[in-house]
Amino acid sequence: MNIILLGPPGVGKGTVAGKLSEKFSFPHIATGDMLRENVAQKTELGMEAKNHMDKGLLVPDDVVIEMIKERLQKKDCEKGFILDGFPRTINQADQIGSFTKMDKVVNLHVSDELIIKRLGRRRICSECGSIYHLEYMKPKKEGICDKCSGKLHQRKDDKPDAIINRLEVYRKETEPLIKYYQDKKLIVNVDGSGTPEEVFELVVEDIS
Ligand SMILES: [Zn+2]
Repeated sequence: MNIILLGPPGVGKGTVAGKLSEKFSFPHIATGDMLRENVAQKTELGMEAKNHMDKGLLVPDDVVIEMIKERLQKKDCEKGFILDGFPRTINQADQIGSFTKMDKVVNLHVSDELIIKRLGRRRICSECGSIYHLEYMKPKKEGICDKCSGKLHQRKDDKPDAIINRLEVYRKETEPLIKYYQDKKLIVNVDGSGTPEEVFELVVEDIS
């Protein structure tokens, strides 16, 4: 089953994708991780992406799409995959649709209020990038990463003003995808306001 997870920042896409990946043994493809891996392994596409990132620019769509295309051709994607964080625009969705077929597009939705609250409690390790949450995934020792003992901090992106900005961008660029996939009869709407376990159970029920 080929699945896309849609939803605003902070809705818990990554957590749900991770759990789905475990349950169904489909790879969880998060575009951020994929980019970092390609850069770390110095692949041709990774180097091209790095060129843009070093200049503080966004990585162009065609580079990311080429990476996804390569990734989806790997053997572990044969039975299905979970795309998390991509596509974000209709143009990207069109391009992905030109080389792969989706089975379900899960639209996780929650109120803006809850998103601001959730993201505001997120912490990230300054050393290894592991993500924690003061409510759902607390570090064993306050302010310290379980994995590498690095210091935890709040990303600038997760401060209230930045979150409101990110939500606006989401509404403008990504929300039209809901209608786009609705027209293709692929959308599955799931309430994302519960705990990660509750949301995961709902998703499993609705895609089965
Ligand atoms: Zn760490």
